[in-house]
Parts: sequence; structure tokens; C-alpha cells
Amino acid sequence: MAKKVKVTDACQGCTLCTMTCPSVFAMNADNLAEAIVAEIPEGEEAAVEEAAANCPAGAIEIE
Ligand code: SF4
Repeated sequence: MAKKVKVTDACQGCTLCTMTCPSVFAMNADNLAEAIVAEIPEGEEAAVEEAAANCPAGAIEIE
């Protein structure tokens, strides 16, 4: 089963995750990142894990 991903309120809007994994993360109207998919697409797990590891706010949760 695919893992789920979400961006929490801790996001600081640095845009890093949207550059690392644009198929999963996008900036919203408030200039904060959000996950544009509820579940991580096949083949994107490594990029999402990289984005989560590099997020300076620790705002990306994978479960
Ligand atoms: S890397 Fe983290 S702080 Fe930066 S935009 Fe993404 S969720 Fe927000």
C-alpha cells in the first residue's frame, strides 16, 4: 500500500520540497507547501523521503 504524505503547519515556505519532488509538492496561495497528492505515487518514494529529510522545518510527514 502506498505511503501517505502531508505538509504540516511548520512549513516555512522555502520551496525546497517543490523543487525536489514537484509531482508531490506545490506552493499554495499562502506561499506554503502542500502535498498535491494524498498518497505517494509509485517511484516517488525516494524523492519524497529526500524532501522530508532536507526540509528545514521538519514539516513533511510520511506515514
Ligand atoms: S521543504 Fe519544508 S519548509 Fe520548505 S517549503 Fe517544503 S515543507 Fe515547507
